[in-house]
Amino acid sequence: MSTTLADGLVGRASPAEFDELESNVRTYCRTFDTIFTRARGASMFDQEGRRYVDFLSGAGALGYGHNNPRIKEAVIEYLRDDGVLHSLDLHTAAKLEFLRKFRDLILAPRGLDYRVQFCGPTGTDAVEAALKLARKVTGQSTVIAFTNAYHGVSLGSLAATASAHHRASAGLALQSVVRMPFENYLGPEVDTIALMRAMLARGSGLERPAAIIVETVQAEGGINVASVEWLRRLSDLAAAHGILLIVDDIQVGCGRTGTFFSFERAGIKPDIICLSKAIGGIGMPMSLVLVKPELDLWSPGDHVGTFRGNNLAFVAAAAALDYWREPDFEQQLERRSLLMRERLAAVAERYPDQCEGVRGVGMIQGLSWRDPSLTTPITRAAFAHGLIVESCGPNKEVLKLLPPLVIEDEELEEGLSILSHAIGTTLDADG
Ligand code: PMP
Repeated sequence: MSTTLADGLVGRASPAEFDELESNVRTYCRTFDTIFTRARGASMFDQEGRRYVDFLSGAGALGYGHNNPRIKEAVIEYLRDDGVLHSLDLHTAAKLEFLRKFRDLILAPRGLDYRVQFCGPTGTDAVEAALKLARKVTGQSTVIAFTNAYHGVSLGSLAATASAHHRASAGLALQSVVRMPFENYLGPEVDTIALMRAMLARGSGLERPAAIIVETVQAEGGINVASVEWLRRLSDLAAAHGILLIVDDIQVGCGRTGTFFSFERAGIKPDIICLSKAIGGIGMPMSLVLVKPELDLWSPGDHVGTFRGNNLAFVAAAAALDYWREPDFEQQLERRSLLMRERLAAVAERYPDQCEGVRGVGMIQGLSWRDPSLTTPITRAAFAHGLIVESCGPNKEVLKLLPPLVIEDEELEEGLSILSHAIGTTLDADG
């Protein structure tokens, strides 16, 4: 039998070889420094055969786990049948199947009516398209984005992203975005919607904005969860001023917060929605914008891209949507998120001097630390004990848990136990 890459490399390789061959720009691999070969469900395996529970999940792209067998089967069958793989924006059967399922299983049951715009395969391209469309439709250029927002790193999206680190690498002025405080950014006593309303009044000096772009849960920004009330008031404010509301659901859409769209808990209907990451089922690159039909004022070719027609992603995405047929799928998400919540709350209670508490909703949850320098040793200790987990927030002060949505209870418990142990050993060594 021949050796495959999944069996491991011929002769063990050193991660240091990447220093020679790959650019310095890489990040995650600096913390999780091994060579991975196989993955299944919530587990990854390295070339030594070591297993790691994966709470990073491709930064949310692997909502249905690695190599999800149901989704993978559909992809293999399509490959075997010589299905069209690359199609620009030509009509294909695979695309139509996805569009129909998305309408029937996701949009229609939620009373939502949107047209789908396929974008180049990364999240940031969906944000570029959404911002461009909002500017085209309204004829205005200014966009309101929030403190601690993350919308991607291509230049239009980067202008809306708040991260100082990412903005610093732009190399030019990032323009046409006005920053407003997210809920609680100025403390619980400041009503940031009232502040925004004041800034939208005549005479404030603010240009009339084309759009407000918001994450209902700021994932990279530190797991900041907007309240239902804040989201409703934001939506009302936008409507009252004729400003389009764009929800960037790239990281927390597709079930991450417990419902397919993260804004469902607030009952709002954004004008434009950006989706990517988990929509591709098993990590297939896919990115799209949902547009209210009356706002679909694009002319053909206004926003293009060679890889808008990744049919393997359409097939995987359509297979993944079948999970949303299962009557108890959302209840399972709720049950797993309660388990996460309980276990994380117990850790937070154990270390009241160091830990600020649990953050999150659904299956994006985390622990916030008063001293940001604690999270790096914790993630390293977790990795040494077989868990992949990352940190987020402006100072990397929050440990962020994004297990696959379909993770088995046993693996979820296992990952949480490793994390708790890693926190214990790090804090004991520290104190
Ligand atoms: N928006 C949000 C909310 C994100 O979390 C991300 C990725 N972390 C992006 C946009 C950009 O997506 P991509 O990295 O695929 O360009």
